[in-house]
Amino acid sequence: MTRSITLKRRTLVAGLGLLSAASIIGRSANAGPVKSTGESADMTAAMPQVSQFKLGSLKFTVVRDGANVLEKPWETFGSNQRPETVQALLAENFLPTDKLLNTYAPAVIDTGKDVVLVDTGFGAAMRGKGAGMLLDGLKAAGYSPDQITAVALTHMHGDHIGGLMENGAPTFPNARYFGGQVEYDFWTDKAREGTPGEGNQKSVMANVVPIADRMTFLKEGDQIVSGMTAMLAPGHTPGHMVFHVESDGEQLVMTGDAANHYVLSLQRPDWEVRFDMDKAQAARTRNRIFDMIAKDRIAFLGYHMPFPAVGFLEKKDIGFRYVPKTYQFDL
Ligand SMILES: [Zn+2]
Repeated sequence: MTRSITLKRRTLVAGLGLLSAASIIGRSANAGPVKSTGESADMTAAMPQVSQFKLGSLKFTVVRDGANVLEKPWETFGSNQRPETVQALLAENFLPTDKLLNTYAPAVIDTGKDVVLVDTGFGAAMRGKGAGMLLDGLKAAGYSPDQITAVALTHMHGDHIGGLMENGAPTFPNARYFGGQVEYDFWTDKAREGTPGEGNQKSVMANVVPIADRMTFLKEGDQIVSGMTAMLAPGHTPGHMVFHVESDGEQLVMTGDAANHYVLSLQRPDWEVRFDMDKAQAARTRNRIFDMIAKDRIAFLGYHMPFPAVGFLEKKDIGFRYVPKTYQFDL
């Protein structure tokens, strides 16, 4: 589905010329003039990518909210390792050793009754700066913001909650909201003021607090909609959760930020990650959640996995081999 949507859109862009193409892709065109030929990097950056697949009777739509380049990967992943060790693992996996590409993958689960959005991307704060393309992606897939009936948050970092509000009003006016109780309590606690968490607290105040009166606060084992269950997976943040989704015997776990790089965090789950607030707890959680996924041979959607962010895991002596999805859900 990724391919077919991309192709269709390219055909449209080529066929309709600059102005119409810009109106089709809306705000995402603001990165510059839309090129009508070729597959330039500009075009990839400016156009939202969307991937759709079915899990049982559920329709998933994954949107690439955007991407950013992270320099010196060893300062973020394997921050307790020697830089050469991190670079060697990247090289072994055919990846550049001096920088990496971080992507963002909010997703919609259409149950037929509910349209559930999981995480919201950066929103307006990063629009035109390489991210904030969720709404354009949803539009390309045929969803308008008022069709979203539920929004569930794995945790409350800016790249997951930034899209909740738009021009001072809720982006998804008809949605009810689901977020972790522990997570919400942590970020809204006055104790965060004057700490490294203060910046993110401001983001929670601006994006989550205004819709908190419509939020159901989740604990371990709570159901969001039928077949979708929240599980505590702390470490990255104190109240981080993953969502287990099941339909007609098929399963997928939305793992949020339990692992944030398909090689560095999955092949070496014990390595420290700068973004993890409690690094030891995050490593324990990573091993627990991904052990389960590997053992049960079920799919997972990782918010920062390479787009479309869905894959499987093979357990190795240390860590896991990431196997990106291909046509498993199409047959
Ligand atoms: Zn994240």
